[in-house]
Amino acid sequence: MFELQPGPLVKPNGPQTYMEAGERRPTVLLVDDRAENLLALEAVLGDMDLNMLRAASGEAALKHLLEREIALILLDVRMPRMDGFETAALIRSRDKCRHIPIIFVTAVNTEMEHVSRGYSLGAVDYILKPFPPEILRSKVSVFVELFRKSEQVRRQAREIQEMQFQEIIRREQEKRLVEVQRYARELEMNAKELARSNEELEQFAYVASHDLQEPLRKVGNYAQLLERAGRRKLDPKGRKYLEKILEGADRMHSLIRDLLNYSRVSTGESPFETIEMESVLESAVSNLDAMIKSTGAVVTHDPLPSVWANSMRMQELLQNLIQNGVKFQEKAAPQIHVSADRRDSEWIFSVRDNGIGIDPRYFDRIFVIFQRLHPSSDYPGNGMGLTICKRIVERHGGKLWVESEPGRGATFRFSVPMKGGM
Ligand code: ADP
Repeated sequence: MFELQPGPLVKPNGPQTYMEAGERRPTVLLVDDRAENLLALEAVLGDMDLNMLRAASGEAALKHLLEREIALILLDVRMPRMDGFETAALIRSRDKCRHIPIIFVTAVNTEMEHVSRGYSLGAVDYILKPFPPEILRSKVSVFVELFRKSEQVRRQAREIQEMQFQEIIRREQEKRLVEVQRYARELEMNAKELARSNEELEQFAYVASHDLQEPLRKVGNYAQLLERAGRRKLDPKGRKYLEKILEGADRMHSLIRDLLNYSRVSTGESPFETIEMESVLESAVSNLDAMIKSTGAVVTHDPLPSVWANSMRMQELLQNLIQNGVKFQEKAAPQIHVSADRRDSEWIFSVRDNGIGIDPRYFDRIFVIFQRLHPSSDYPGNGMGLTICKRIVERHGGKLWVESEPGRGATFRFSVPMKGGM
C-alpha cells in the first residue's frame, strides 16, 4: 500500500494543453482497487481538461476499454484478483487497445523487480509512489498531447480523404455535364439537319411536280386535239389507245396535284387559329356531298371541341378520312362516325367506319406515300391521301394512327395538342 502525496495543488506550470475546434477531450482511465487512491489521482489531474474514468479492478478497466476510446491508462500494479500486469496483458491482447499507452503506478523498492516485467508487457512508463504531483501531471500531459496530435492527424487525414472524394465527385459531375451538353448539341444538330432535309424534300417535291406539269399539259392538250380532229380517222384500236393516253394524263394530273399539295403542307402556310371542329366537319361533309348521296352513306358525329389549328388543313384531313371510310366499303350503306375525347392535354379525334377494314400487318404501310393495298380498278385512288393526312397531323404537333380488323371496319384516330397544354 502506498500513501499518495498529493502535495500542494498549485496551478500547473508544466506542459499546458489546448483543445482545437472539433477536438474531443481525451479520456484517461484510472485503475486502482482503492477508492481513495482514485480520488487522489483525480485531484492531481483535475484541471488538465481531461475526462477521467475510474475502474476499481482490471475487469472493470477492460469493460471501459470496450465502450470508450481511451487516450491513456494509469494502472495500479498491485490489485487483488487480477493485478496490473495481468490486466495489461489482456489489454495488449486486444487489437483495438494494443497501442494505448499504459503508465504503471507502483511503490518504490517493493515492486522494482516487476519493472522489467511491466515493460515487457508494453508499459510505456512507470511512476513510483509516492510521487510529486507535477511528475504525474507532466507524464500524463506528454501522452495526452501525443493522443491529441495523433487524433488531429487522423482527423486531417479524414478531411483530406473527404476533400479528395468531393473532388472526384465534382470531376465526375463535370464530365457528365460535358457529355450531356455534347449530346444536346448533337441532338440539336440532328434536328436541324432533319429540318433542312425535310425542307429540301419539300422543295424537291414542289419543283419536280411543278416542272412535270408543263410536259403533262402538252400531252393532255395534244391528246385532246387528236381526239377532236382525228377520232373519226382512227380505227377502234387507235381510239382505245387514245382513251388510255387521256386517262393516263388525267391520273398523272391528279398525282401531281396531290404531290404539290403534300409539299405545301407546312405550319407556316397560314396561321393557326381557334376553329370549331363541328363547322369544319360540316364543310368537309358538304364537299363530299355527291359521293355521300351516291353511296347512301350516313355521317354522324358527337359534339366536337374547338382546337387551335389551320382550318383548311383540318377540313382536308377530315375530308380525306371520311372519303376513305365511304370508299373502302363492300356494303351498300357506309356509316361514318366522328367523335373526340380529351386525353391529358390533347384531343383525340376518331373517324370510325363500317368498311372492309385493314389487316394490322399493313398499319404502317398505308401511311407511306403511294402505298395502296388494292388496285385502283377496285378502289380508285393514288395512295397519297393518308400520307397527306399524316403530314397535316404532325404539322399540328399530333399523331395519326389506325385501329382495325379485316372485315370489321376501321377507326382512324389523330391527336391535336391543346393550345398551351390547356
Ligand atoms: P388512297 O385512298 O388513294 O388509296 P390513302 O393513302 O388514303 O390512299 O390510303 C392508302 C391505303 O390504305 C388505301 O389504298 C387502302 O388500302 C387503305 N385504307 C385507307 N383508309 C381505309 C379505310 N377507311 N378502310 C380500309 N382501308 C383503308
